[in-house]
Amino acid sequence: MTVRATARGTGRTSLDGERADVLVCGASFAGLAVARELASAGAAVLVVDRYELGERATSACAAPTPWLEAMGVAASIRQRLAHMTFTTPHGSVRLRLPWSWSAFDYRELCLGLWDQCGDARFVTAKVDGRADGGVATDRGTLRAPLVVDAMGWRRVLSEPHVQPPRAPLSRGLEVHPHHDGSGDALDCWVERGLARRGYGWRVPAGGEARIGVGSYDPRRHVKAPTVALAERLGAPPARYQGNWFPHRLRAPTEGGAFFVGDSAGHCFPLSGEGIRTAFYFGIACGRELRAVVAGRKDAERALDDYAAFHARHAAAFRRAGRLQRLVPALPPRVLTGVLHALRPQPVVDRAFGWYLDQAHPGFAAA
Ligand SMILES: Cc1cc2nc3c(=O)[nH]c(=O)nc-3n(C[C@H](O)[C@H](O)[C@H](O)COP(=O)(O)OP(=O)(O)OC[C@H]3O[C@@H](n4cnc5c(N)ncnc54)[C@H](O)[C@@H]3O)c2cc1C
Repeated sequence: MTVRATARGTGRTSLDGERADVLVCGASFAGLAVARELASAGAAVLVVDRYELGERATSACAAPTPWLEAMGVAASIRQRLAHMTFTTPHGSVRLRLPWSWSAFDYRELCLGLWDQCGDARFVTAKVDGRADGGVATDRGTLRAPLVVDAMGWRRVLSEPHVQPPRAPLSRGLEVHPHHDGSGDALDCWVERGLARRGYGWRVPAGGEARIGVGSYDPRRHVKAPTVALAERLGAPPARYQGNWFPHRLRAPTEGGAFFVGDSAGHCFPLSGEGIRTAFYFGIACGRELRAVVAGRKDAERALDDYAAFHARHAAAFRRAGRLQRLVPALPPRVLTGVLHALRPQPVVDRAFGWYLDQAHPGFAAA
């Protein structure tokens, strides 16, 4: 059984009554993007996670390279992938993207973001929910006037929490066999034999490959297809990692708290891409909090403005949600034809340019 690094034994002192100006719950992509935006804002920022920083990777860790550069974490990149391949039972299409994906090391990325978080403090504690005007954890109640839930799909600070398999969630599982580092493409398989509604992937990441299957239907198990895909690719199914991820937007604020990343459903339907959007909405939330700390807005106004920012992106998420329903319904031969029609470079540039624009890395520098 994996034992994850967290405060244990005598290190697990009481945090009861700890106060901060901003309490960020969750120290992954979304939470660290929020805290990074608050560096040198003059606020006491407390970041809490059940595990130590970078301890539990939650994804295949592939993101657009321009985003990793914009966030100052390009050093965590293990392999750049300038192409994508899409394979159906009727053929394969290889596309050269107008920007590249990069597979990165999760721990290095988290530590790289944390380095940019200024005087923020980090503690490990498991958050249980809201209680008594504060945030209840297994180490006591933490209090702050500004609270962020960046704890992923479960939406811990909401009542009730999100529970699979009824909620609009997808599920994914991958294995991480050793790999020789060859290949320059992020590979996708759209085959009903692997996932009736979903897809498989291989992300070469330096010394390992991340091979997995995702299902848009949370009731469908994905272990057998993940093993089958790994074996088809001649890789031993070693080192499993799985999780749920949302495919529908949720309320960005509730009970006076901000929800960012998967907790607000900020993972794109169809692609299941949620790292860049966690950065994007994390930055937006951090900027609102910064305005409150600087006295330029009150908390109510910041909540409203953040909710309005989230709402401005709803159409793109709805469009991706429609595609998520449409693509698995297409007869495989028709889908293969559509993929072939995408091949001319101007079409690829336009389609993937639009996709990147929905959460553009330029926002990080704005
Ligand atoms: C198998 C798989 C592969 C994926 N691959 C990709 C990919 O390659 N690229 C991509 O863009 N997206 C990918 N995704 C989606 C992506 O992982 C998520 O969208 C992304 O991780 C969301 O980031 P987040 O910061 O909102 O939440 P998370 O990354 O889930 O982080 C939540 C944090 O909160 C902490 N936490 C949770 N509960 C508590 C609690 N009760 N108390 C304290 N702390 C808590 C966790 O320890 C964690 O650090 C993948 C998803 C899966 C399942």
